[in-house]
Amino acid sequence: MAQDNQDNKGNKPQGNNNKNNGKKKGSDWMMYILYAIIIISLGGVWLGGGNSGSNKEINWTRLDEILRRGDQEKIVVVDRDHAEIYIKQEALKSDTSYKDLTKGTKKITESGHYTYKFVDVESFKKDIDMVAQQNFERDTASLSDSNGYVSTEAINKARRDNHIELTAKENDHTWEKVLYWFGPILMLVFFFFIMSRIANRQMGGGGGGIFNVGKSKAKMYDGKTSINVSFKDVAGLAGAKEEVMEVVDFLKNPKKYTALGGKIPKGVLLVGPPGTGKTLLAKAVAGEASVPFFSMSGSDFVEMFVGVGASRVRDLFEEAKKKAPCIIFIDEIDAVGRARSRGGMSNANDERENTLNQLLTEMDGFGTNNGVIVMAATNRADILDKALLRAGRFDRQIYVELPDIDERKAIFEVHMKGLKLGNDIDIDFLSKQTPGFSGADIANVCNEAALCAARKNKSTIEKQDFLDAIDRIIGGLEKRSKVITPEEKRTIAYHESGHASVSWLLRWGNPLVKVTIVPRGKALGAAWYLPEERQITTFEQMFDEITSLVAGRAAEEIVFGQISTGALNDLERATKMAFSLVAYYGMSPKIGNISYYDSTGQSDWNFTKPFSEQTNEDIDKEVKRMIEEAYNRAKEIITGSREKLDQLAQVLFDREVIFRDDVENIYGPRPWDEKTEQEKSDIQ
Ligand code: ATP
Repeated sequence: MAQDNQDNKGNKPQGNNNKNNGKKKGSDWMMYILYAIIIISLGGVWLGGGNSGSNKEINWTRLDEILRRGDQEKIVVVDRDHAEIYIKQEALKSDTSYKDLTKGTKKITESGHYTYKFVDVESFKKDIDMVAQQNFERDTASLSDSNGYVSTEAINKARRDNHIELTAKENDHTWEKVLYWFGPILMLVFFFFIMSRIANRQMGGGGGGIFNVGKSKAKMYDGKTSINVSFKDVAGLAGAKEEVMEVVDFLKNPKKYTALGGKIPKGVLLVGPPGTGKTLLAKAVAGEASVPFFSMSGSDFVEMFVGVGASRVRDLFEEAKKKAPCIIFIDEIDAVGRARSRGGMSNANDERENTLNQLLTEMDGFGTNNGVIVMAATNRADILDKALLRAGRFDRQIYVELPDIDERKAIFEVHMKGLKLGNDIDIDFLSKQTPGFSGADIANVCNEAALCAARKNKSTIEKQDFLDAIDRIIGGLEKRSKVITPEEKRTIAYHESGHASVSWLLRWGNPLVKVTIVPRGKALGAAWYLPEERQITTFEQMFDEITSLVAGRAAEEIVFGQISTGALNDLERATKMAFSLVAYYGMSPKIGNISYYDSTGQSDWNFTKPFSEQTNEDIDKEVKRMIEEAYNRAKEIITGSREKLDQLAQVLFDREVIFRDDVENIYGPRPWDEKTEQEKSDIQ
């Protein structure tokens, strides 16, 4: 089952996967803004080369002008690189050329009003001295009397007035220098960090960068806080529950078992069809045992990099050992546990095989995994590597089957708990109507029924909503908009009536529940039957089923004298059944008691068949014969009750849907249904 960040029981995993999406997005944005600020400031410092100061830069002409007017208060040479020019307050107030300085901030900034950048500090000093000298000469010339005489006092005053004082200042540039030299390196490191985050995200991992690719991606549920699934939530599955309850006992009281010299099992493999509650059962074990629960899917081990799978297995077990006693749960273990190939034909599976080898080593290698129980689930135990299944690794295999009628009832009860039900709900009836449904299907029926009722603005969920939900899950959504001509509709009505009547009249045919000729999903018509729930099937039962399957086409041929493509699905199923009768179950007299079934699944990869050409031909002939016999039989039955078929088809054509009662009204009750009830009570 796909693992969400939050499962349907509301359990929240710990670690980096449990973040609320919205929050995560918000924090992502914050991170990006922070990154941008860092980059811009680093870039700014670096490009600025450590030059600070926000004052206006002027050229020599402007500075010369200021100096000749004597407007400067002081000139500070900074770092032998540039000069900061401070202007006298009186000049600022009186002279309009300083308007731009007084407009904004009136106070003298720390770095002066103007900046002048020179090339060489010595020639700058010379230039300043030259201007001071020229100012001095200008002033003394204006002070001389008619004889051209200037008093010593005036000369001294003019010299003092025109002296331009230069002071020097050194700024502390340590940080700027550090950044200037190390900035590019920091930026490179930062760039790789971002790239690794992106790569990691693309690989579906949490934070930590590309260097963490070998870390396990398991979600960790802490036993005390997050797992709130218990055995009460798992309906039915009594046998499986009993076995896994022992696992809980192992984890809670290990001494009870080790005291007698026994060893705690290392692994428990849950095997069964999809949706039967394997994951739920594993969670319930963790919930009941109150121990940490590491959950990971088999496909999470596999990555595009070589060696990652093995490293993730190692990491997972290391983490688990730290938290022991705990449970590791590997869902869909067949993704890594598939049997290793024998031949050296291809190296394509090397990565998966390495991962599997590591898993084998961790489960029963030199190291001990005290208190770590590995639970795994799969739909295909047959394709798993034999080494994985041997005692010492997955010591226990628990079969989780599709629920029987009583179990379905219990599952309905669990999933109906939170629903607002109407008074007409009959759980017994619903569990009878859902043969072959898995726990997940039943959960889905309950949910669909609630949605159905909500769509109709009902205040409670009624029986009809459940029936609609069941129909929808079996047949798909009704497509009333599909355009069907009256001729096509008549053909479909006869086709479906053919199935319904033959299966009604045959001893082992499945009794009908409902037939509809409203298109659903891909099908133009659909019939719901109630198959008998049995553990073994006889030849007669399978042959009756094949006959019912081909009865649709038989009805078309008899009534219209022509056949249509509508029988594709029936023929496919009938052919597969006939083939399995002949080649797998050894039920054909010509082939004999021989089965070519390969439970290991290895034969899927073989190019050759395990039988001779002659047997191949014989199997073909037998399959053909069997289907032909079934077809002729169906035609015979239909011809024998042609009038009734016409009646049934007419009802179906008019109403578009018929139920068991309609068939019973036309054909009468099935004698063996009562007999079966009698047989049942005899057995009891
Ligand atoms: P898969 O093989 O496809 O991963 P699974 O066997 O692991 O399927 P779960 O994920 O355990 O199936 O079941 C899916 C959902 O079906 C559960 O979350 C639960 O709602 C419902 N369900 C299945 N079996 C049961 C059960 N026995 N009792 C109650 N609910 C069940």
